[in-house]
Amino acid sequence: MKTLADEILEALPGLMDSHPKGAAVEDISNLIYAPAAHVRAAMLALHTSARASLARWPGSKRRYLVPVGHDFGQRRRACPHCHLVFTLNPNDAPCCSKSCGSQHWWNKASPEERAARTAPVIANSRTPEARAKTSARTKARAADPAVKAALSERTKAWWANPANAAVLAAKIQKVASDPVRRRAMSERRKKDWQDPAFREKLVSAHRAVAATPEYRARRSETLKAVWAHPVTGETMRAATRKNIARAVDAVRGKKQTPEQVRKRVEAARRTRALNRASRPTVQDRILPALACGPLGVRELEAALPGSYRQTIYAALHEMKLAGAVQAIRDGRNVRYALVQR
Ligand SMILES: [Zn+2]
Repeated sequence: MKTLADEILEALPGLMDSHPKGAAVEDISNLIYAPAAHVRAAMLALHTSARASLARWPGSKRRYLVPVGHDFGQRRRACPHCHLVFTLNPNDAPCCSKSCGSQHWWNKASPEERAARTAPVIANSRTPEARAKTSARTKARAADPAVKAALSERTKAWWANPANAAVLAAKIQKVASDPVRRRAMSERRKKDWQDPAFREKLVSAHRAVAATPEYRARRSETLKAVWAHPVTGETMRAATRKNIARAVDAVRGKKQTPEQVRKRVEAARRTRALNRASRPTVQDRILPALACGPLGVRELEAALPGSYRQTIYAALHEMKLAGAVQAIRDGRNVRYALVQR
């Protein structure tokens, strides 16, 4: 059966007589009464199978069909990559430009040929010097405020599009809910926590964040709201009761070995010491309060919300012993003042 391409090929020599530049899509479709889209596809198929050639004349994007080996005259050829008709240079380079030449070579090259060309480039980019260079260039770029601003703008604009955000959220959800991946991730995390260095890094980072007044205030608000909520609050209370009952059951009637007791006490001491070290002590908070002038214990209590009076007394006592604070008798009251040094 004769295909459209066969028909076009048959008509091509005649068309060349009336159209010396080559046969355009409409020339062919007018002649053989075929839809332009089909003709265009058949032209491309003829070119790919090397039964005819496509050509493009300078200054236009229109493609023409010419017979294979068509003589364009005056050392002219059609570029095999972009089909542009160009004049051969003295070296008879097969393509119209260097970029067409390299793209044409790449398209024709076998995987081995491609690998042979990319391997040295990749190897070179992995040397320490090349890595240092790339890193320096990337860092310099990332530090440029203009680049930063542009990137931020682009990211914000991307996220502002609800379609983008939804697509990404769905992708993340899909990946995160994959059971195989979840199990692998869980195992990896469990292993990480066995590593003392990893553990220390995360715990100390969390402790540092948890010690900031902003975090403590925010967490306090959140927890208050959760415990006050009729549903979540009751759930938490029930869970706590259950946990306590379970813990009590676990140790009831069992005497802890001296080793267990020692371990428990030591762990508690260590935690308390670390928590204390990362949080401003009552002494630390008394100092700025007294910097403005002598205060009584009641006034200090008001200035240090959340601290017990006993704790304040104890801190003042220690500070007095250390010579940082002095007590001033004022009739029946006692005021405390910083010792000027
Ligand atoms: Zn070209």
